[in-house]
Amino acid sequence: MARRIGVLALQGGFAPHKQALEELGLASSEVRTAAELAEVDGLVLPGGESTTQLRLLGRHGLDAALDAFVRSGRPVLCTCAGLILAAQKVSSPTQRSFGWLDVGVTRNAWGRQVDSFIARDDRERLQLVFIRAPRITEVGPQVEVLATYRGEPVLVRQGNTYGATFHPELTPDRSTHQAVFSGQGLPA
Ligand code: GLN
Repeated sequence: MARRIGVLALQGGFAPHKQALEELGLASSEVRTAAELAEVDGLVLPGGESTTQLRLLGRHGLDAALDAFVRSGRPVLCTCAGLILAAQKVSSPTQRSFGWLDVGVTRNAWGRQVDSFIARDDRERLQLVFIRAPRITEVGPQVEVLATYRGEPVLVRQGNTYGATFHPELTPDRSTHQAVFSGQGLPA
């Protein structure tokens, strides 16, 4: 079981993730440097603006350390913009990404009138908060789909790297964080 979980805190919604981890009794810390990353056993990549996050990762010299951390197999939860960084392929518009998850994502893909909305997944286990969310449009063979909305994947896993198009930190339900960092499956 992971002991201290880092939350990448360069930009975006990192504070509610820290809160969610603390509610689960997990120690957490904000990560802005490679030295801080070396102190943690798991990591959250929060939502926000993925282009800005990419630029800041480069500026803080974090690209290589972050890539090595995720590829080491430690548990990592990538939400929304974090998922866009993790994807193999990004469109609308295209941008650089790390490719930890063999998925294709389309940014801001739910249409202008419904930029942000709340729904339940198809099995009604999770409350889904979408904020200018990406859509997962392609899923590779090594990727497991853990939750769908209207038949489309919204929570996926490849090894210990998880990607969510929604914001599990913004609801009281902690089952997503728990599944990633406490090794418990999602409720049936
Ligand atoms: N639209 C954002 C992006 O493309 C992601 C939205 C979010 O993280 N809430 O980076």
